[in-house]
Amino acid sequence: MTAQRLSKSRFVAGKQCHKLLWWKVHEPLAVELQPDKVLQDRFDQGAQVGALARERFPGGVLIDLPHDAVAERVEATRAAIDAGAPAIFEASFVADNTFVAVDVLLREPGGAGWRLIEVKSASSQKEEHLLDVAVQAHVLGLCDVNVVAMEVMHLSKDFRNPDRGELFERADVTAQVRELLPSVHPELEAQLAMLGGALPDVPVGLHCHEPRDCPFMERCWPQEPDHIRRLYNVGPKKCREYMVKGVHRIGDIPPKQKLSDAAKRQIRAMREGLVVEPGLREALEPFDVTLGFLDFETIQRAIPVWPGTAPWEQSAAQFSYHESNGDGAYGHVEFLAEGAEDARPLLAERMIEATSGAERVVTYSAFEKTRIRGLQVSVPSLRAELEELEGKLIDLLPVLRDHVYHPEFHGSFSLKFVLTPLVPELTYSDLVIVDGLVASVEIARLLFVAQKIPIEERARVRQDLLNYCERDTWAMVKLLERMRQLAGGWRPRPDLKLI
Ligand code: SF4
Repeated sequence: MTAQRLSKSRFVAGKQCHKLLWWKVHEPLAVELQPDKVLQDRFDQGAQVGALARERFPGGVLIDLPHDAVAERVEATRAAIDAGAPAIFEASFVADNTFVAVDVLLREPGGAGWRLIEVKSASSQKEEHLLDVAVQAHVLGLCDVNVVAMEVMHLSKDFRNPDRGELFERADVTAQVRELLPSVHPELEAQLAMLGGALPDVPVGLHCHEPRDCPFMERCWPQEPDHIRRLYNVGPKKCREYMVKGVHRIGDIPPKQKLSDAAKRQIRAMREGLVVEPGLREALEPFDVTLGFLDFETIQRAIPVWPGTAPWEQSAAQFSYHESNGDGAYGHVEFLAEGAEDARPLLAERMIEATSGAERVVTYSAFEKTRIRGLQVSVPSLRAELEELEGKLIDLLPVLRDHVYHPEFHGSFSLKFVLTPLVPELTYSDLVIVDGLVASVEIARLLFVAQKIPIEERARVRQDLLNYCERDTWAMVKLLERMRQLAGGWRPRPDLKLI
C-alpha cells in the first residue's frame, strides 16, 4: 500500500472516526461519498462565501492552481510570501505528510508574522472549526511560517440584505487552537499508520453524529426496525446511553424506564400492531370546520438574497393549498416564485386570497406558522391579514403523535414516514423531488441561476417542485381522512364543506 498524504479535510474526518477516513481514502468513489444536490449546493455556497471574504483583503494574491498541483501551489505560495503580498488566499504548504491550503494568510503589520484565517459559511464560530485551524497551524509551524494569531471568519447573524451591517464576523481562536496543537502530530501519525492497514474496527457511537452525521451510517449501524436508535425522539446521546447499558433493541428497554407517551405507544404498537388512543375523536373535533391545507417550500441561502433577510434565513418561495369544494372534490391553489425578485409579497397576497374562505388551515408541524410570522415582518403591508391567517392555523402533527402509532413509523412522525403506513395508496415514490432540502436547492437554482439551465430542464424542474409541494398538502387531506376513520363514529356536520 502506498503512503498516503493527509489534508485538512482528511484530518478532520479522521478526528471524527478512523473508519470514516479509511473509506474516504481507500474508497473515494463510494456512493455515500458522492455529493448529492444538497451537498453540492453547500460547496457552491461555501465557494461564494470564500470569494466574498477575499474581497475584504485588498491586494491579496490568490494561489489559483488546481488542488492536485501540490508542488506548484507550494512554490507559488513561497513566491507570494517573498514578493511581500499583504495577504495570500489558498496559501499552500506541505509538512508531516499533510497538505493544507489556508483560506487567508494575512501579513501582520511591521513584519510581526502572519495571521491565519479560516473562512466558514456558518453563521457562528463552532468548536469543530478549531481542528481545521489547528492542523493548518501545525503544518505552517513546520514550514517556518510565523503564525502569531488565528481566526475563524464566519457570516454574521446580524447582517441583513442588501447591506445592513457587516457580512462577516471574525473570532480570535488563537488561545484555543494553541491548546490543541500538541495533539495534532500524534493524531496525524495515528491516522497515517491506520491508513496503511486494513479497515479499522470502530464501533458505532456518538461520534457517528458529531460534528456531523457520517455518510456511512447505513453501512455501520444495525438496520433492524427495532434497534434502539429507532425509539421515538431518542437522539444520539440517549441512544448511546442505552447502548452503553447493553440496551440495543427497543424490546430490551427495562420496564421501569421513564419514557414519553409516544415512545410507550411505539413499544405497544411493536407488540400489538396499530395503536389508536380513545381520545382521538375528541382531539379531531377542532378540525370539524371548513378546512384548508397549507404547505410551504423555502429557500435558504448563505448570502441572503431578498431584502431584510439574514444569512441562512429561510424564506417562503412556494406554497400548495388544498380546500374542499363542498362536494367531495378539492380545489387546489399553488404558487412558485419566478425570477430573482423578492417573491414574498406576491406569495403572501396569493396565499391570503386562497385561504380566505377556510375557517381553519391545517399544517403538519409548526414550520408554516414560523414562515407566516416571517412574512408578517417582510410584507408589512399585509401584516393584519397574515396575523389573521396565523390565527386560523391548526397543526395535525401533535394530534397524530399523541393518539396514533403504526409500527412502520420507525420512530418518526415526519409526514414521509407516517403517510404510507396509514394511507397505503399514497406515497412519494413516484415523484422526482421527495424531500424539502432538495426542493429548496432546486428552487434557488431556478430563481438565481436560471440562465445556466436549459429551458426544457427549467420547465421540468418547476413541474417537479409543484408536484412535490402538492403531494404534501394532499397527503395531509388523506391523512386526516384516515385519522377520522380510525377515530370511528365521525360524521360530517351537515353544513360542513369538507370531506
Ligand atoms: S458510521 Fe460511525 S463508525 Fe461508521 S464510519 Fe461513520 S462515524 Fe465511523
